Amino acid sequence: MKIGIAFDDHDSQIAGCTTHFGYSVIKAILKKGAKLLDFPWLIRLNPNIPWKTRGNAAVAIWLNYDDPLTIFDIVWNMSLEYIETVSRADKMNRSPGIAMVAESKTDVLNNLYIKALTDVITLDVAEKVARKTGALVRGKRGIIGSLASLGFFGEFTFEMLVYRKPEYWGTARKISITKNLDDFGFPSLFGNYDYIRRKLSIISHGKDPVFYGIRGKNPVTVASASKLILSDEKYDGKLMFKTNQGTDAHFIKTTKNIYGTIIKEITVRKISKVIGGDVIIEDENGLKFIIYKETGELNTVTSFLIKGDKVRIWGDVKPSSIYGSIIDVERIEILTLEKKLMKRNPKCTHCGGPTESVGKNKGFRCKRCGNLIKAEKEINEIPRNISEGLYYSRVYRHLTKPIFLL
Ligand code: ATP
Repeated sequence: MKIGIAFDDHDSQIAGCTTHFGYSVIKAILKKGAKLLDFPWLIRLNPNIPWKTRGNAAVAIWLNYDDPLTIFDIVWNMSLEYIETVSRADKMNRSPGIAMVAESKTDVLNNLYIKALTDVITLDVAEKVARKTGALVRGKRGIIGSLASLGFFGEFTFEMLVYRKPEYWGTARKISITKNLDDFGFPSLFGNYDYIRRKLSIISHGKDPVFYGIRGKNPVTVASASKLILSDEKYDGKLMFKTNQGTDAHFIKTTKNIYGTIIKEITVRKISKVIGGDVIIEDENGLKFIIYKETGELNTVTSFLIKGDKVRIWGDVKPSSIYGSIIDVERIEILTLEKKLMKRNPKCTHCGGPTESVGKNKGFRCKRCGNLIKAEKEINEIPRNISEGLYYSRVYRHLTKPIFLL
């Protein structure tokens, strides 16, 4: 029988990782003779959820097994043990949960997945969906992400995660390759190298059990790229995940709700730079958009926008103590640029010198030779130092689709 089992919130700020729990579960159920029906899924949900630990990830596994209740009990017991001995999630204010569902009713879960990417879901709603779909659930808040991840559909990429042996947890990660990994198989490999800081971006940080992760479009290229990475540290194992990372899934549905995402064409009405370097744009309806300094090029380019420019904005709706809500921008497309015009006094027709006004509609007098000219102010077009096109934030986001995959 085809069953999907998923888990969330198994990590904590000090140890563990939900994907690592998934890795342990897979090892255990394979020993029981279960057959995996797909790569395990690493599903990122709403990136704006304030109570996430890191990247709001849940893990789902589809398998064939005739006795689903046995699998459910195995996973639940493993969950209790993982929380107790590995992540100490319960002590760290985390709220683990698991969910199991049969193949049918996935359309209801598809809708939950969409909502979990773009909105905030209460535990009540998740439990209602569990009853509607006949899903078995156990635990607390983690049930939300678990159930939602089982409803994943659409575009995907891959990430291969390499896990450390427990004796290395908490120690510095050392690898001996500094090569630009993405050059090895671009664009089948992507998101593994930070072109701005010129360093690999595959190494995990912190005390979790992940050594490193390699991302890409093609699982074969991703797997072979791991051979380029050398380390004296013997890893525990590797797992290739199918994932919604790099697909723009968080823009699958847009909303004005707090913690939702928005895509909007606007005309710039006002632009200001606040202390610290963040840029704030106001549109024709008074809606406010913030482009943080950390977004790099995005912050620079938006600081050059002027009134009348038309742009398409991709962003996240965040609460703001000053404005009520504000849109945190992660990408813009400049659609049209206004002409930037400047009025200036005409040059002296006699000697070419600078002139000054002699009064309203009375003309200008040359400051150098005193010549009087009857003329209007000249209107000059100032070149804009930005051009139309797409601009991305420099801040890495798991779900953001890289420009070359658009
Ligand atoms: P890790 O990446 O190590 O797994 P994380 O950043 O994914 O950590 P979690 O520990 O999984 O963080 O915490 C996210 C919590 O938020 C989970 O309990 C999950 O069920 C819940 N959650 C996810 N999406 C939503 C949503 N849209 N609305 C409400 N709760 C959500």
